Amino acid sequence: MKILNLHGVGNLVYEDREIPEPGENEVLLKVMACGICSSDESRVMETGTYHFPTVPGHEFAGQVVGLGEGCDPALMNRKASVFPLLPCFECEACRQKSYATCTNYKYFGSRNDGAYAEYLVVPAWNLNLLDDSVPYTTGALSEPAAVAHHAAVMSGVKKGDRALVIGTGTIGLLIAAFCQIKGAEVYIAGRRQESLDFAASFGFRTINIRKLRDEVNELTNGRRMDVTFEAVGSNLSLEGAIMSTRSGGTVLVMGNPKGDEALPKDVYWKILRWQLRLQGTWNSAFRAEGDDWKEVAEIMKEGSFPFERLITRKYLLSEGDEAFRFLQDKSVPKSRLMFVMHEEADRLKKEREARQ
Ligand SMILES: [Zn+2]
Ligand SMILES: [Zn+2]
Repeated sequence: MKILNLHGVGNLVYEDREIPEPGENEVLLKVMACGICSSDESRVMETGTYHFPTVPGHEFAGQVVGLGEGCDPALMNRKASVFPLLPCFECEACRQKSYATCTNYKYFGSRNDGAYAEYLVVPAWNLNLLDDSVPYTTGALSEPAAVAHHAAVMSGVKKGDRALVIGTGTIGLLIAAFCQIKGAEVYIAGRRQESLDFAASFGFRTINIRKLRDEVNELTNGRRMDVTFEAVGSNLSLEGAIMSTRSGGTVLVMGNPKGDEALPKDVYWKILRWQLRLQGTWNSAFRAEGDDWKEVAEIMKEGSFPFERLITRKYLLSEGDEAFRFLQDKSVPKSRLMFVMHEEADRLKKEREARQ
């Protein structure tokens, strides 16, 4: 089989490896699609992985084509995405079924080899089964979708709420989607006009972040937002999120901070005076109460959101350098880039031929 193996920072090599054998309670997954996360961009191009070489890739879906001992035979041939975190099952967090906060975890695509590979052995426990009607490329969006779904749940957003998402990345758009599905009136704020136009094409109301306070006041008749999501990770957007939220409302904080977060005193005062709730969110719930992955699989099956439109470009596994070069070109706004393999790769080749 073919893999994309990271031998050093910026050194992603397309090479051969033996197809692995599933062990006890493990399955062999034929990987059909694997998203390129922005965290992969820093792993591959800046920071590297825990050790070299490592095969990146943690946002993937495929078909079960082999079963190890002890696996349910009904899993054979099923379509599935994969919870990429491998919990220890022993720490306090794991005992509470809060697997995403396990203190001794492994992870596909960073601590362990991931899914920039045609096949991957995964524990049956990590499978998130998908309906046959869900395209593999949609399924490969399960991980970012589960993270976004968890944020929406943690915010407590409900029908009739006005919800603002600051940030037009893939996660921002997915949060907006889940707020809309929950019946909220959804606004999304960003910097680039192309990104705002793209958000508007999903039916979200858009706000230019440079005029955030004015536009929020104008659009809500001074009542501001019930829930605001900070999905950027900068001082300015945290400040904007606080100032956009109504008295007694919720600010959901989830953007990765690029540095220290500091607030002007008058903004800080608003948290107190307006009795705002600041709520954090981390990863997603899997095989526990409020399983975000199951909810996302259900939404993908219903087809109430066009997930496929979040895929900006698809690449063959042999085109790793090209994909990462495009990812680093910040002059072009983009949502997810994705590697496709096997039948999905054949489909991509046909699409390209048809376009010529
Ligand atoms: Zn990711
Ligand atoms: Zn644990």
